[in-house]
Amino acid sequence: MNEHGGGEVKITFLGTGGSVPTKKRNLPSLAVRTDGGLVMFDCGEGTQKQFLIAKLGFNREMRILISHMHADHILGIPGILHSMSFMGRSRDLEIYGPPGICEFVRCTTETVKFGPMFSIRAVDIRPGTIVKTDTFAIKAAWADHGMPCLAYSLTEYDKPGRFHPGKARALGVPKGPLWKTLQMGKTVKIGRKKIDPSKVVDPPRRGLKITYAVDTRPCERVIELAADSDLLIHDGMFSGDAAERAREYGHSTVVEAATIARKSHSKNLALTHFSAMYEDTKELLAEARAIFPKTIVAEDLRSFELS
Ligand SMILES: [Zn+2]
Ligand SMILES: [Zn+2]
Repeated sequence: MNEHGGGEVKITFLGTGGSVPTKKRNLPSLAVRTDGGLVMFDCGEGTQKQFLIAKLGFNREMRILISHMHADHILGIPGILHSMSFMGRSRDLEIYGPPGICEFVRCTTETVKFGPMFSIRAVDIRPGTIVKTDTFAIKAAWADHGMPCLAYSLTEYDKPGRFHPGKARALGVPKGPLWKTLQMGKTVKIGRKKIDPSKVVDPPRRGLKITYAVDTRPCERVIELAADSDLLIHDGMFSGDAAERAREYGHSTVVEAATIARKSHSKNLALTHFSAMYEDTKELLAEARAIFPKTIVAEDLRSFELS
């Protein structure tokens, strides 16, 4: 993880509290900016303000993925739709979630007078591949929360390596379709000379995988979904000594979250959705790191690039 840029995918935590907001933590929302547009996971109340502060841009290509229909994950939708309308959004917006999301968005847009100039497509989804763009795919799997709750993974496709125009020019390849041919990994001919793409294009870049699983007990389906993630963002509602409480409320302890990160062979773990009981998360971080060292605690408006 790189706090200072240079990566390909930008992660911004908009809200990291669970159930109710605290002075330090807004309700759940996460923004992932990729080459193929912005993906927002959950939209707790107050997300529009965090979104504005994070300067994510109200008219980007964007999809909103909702984990489940608990109030702390969806009540920000009316607000962000209003902000988008107010800011003159013109691009279509897609909203996905478990059964109920479609009805919620329909009621909201019919009863609250936003007057949006953009179209909103809300879709009730089930597990499986739900979105495929030119650059990434998103899969959903059932989490374990005592009500229909989805975990999501976003997997970028591998990308062609960086093309170096200066090297191409130096080898006598003029700007134009031949550059594209080289970037696609094919040899080109200039007169009698053959130019190998490796001379002007770096090796392909591996696509990144990010998994989002909040409001869930430790769950085999999440482990499977999260396999080999570069970043797993997981429910860390309680400390290890509140295991009984976590079980009762359908959440995970940070110890359980760290164990999921280890079992899924994820490379990094971000704990989120903290109970309002924990003003200080130092202890929680230490507990998780004892099991999975590459753990961070998500903080509101913390942002970094994954590369
Ligand atoms: Zn929640
Ligand atoms: Zn919940």
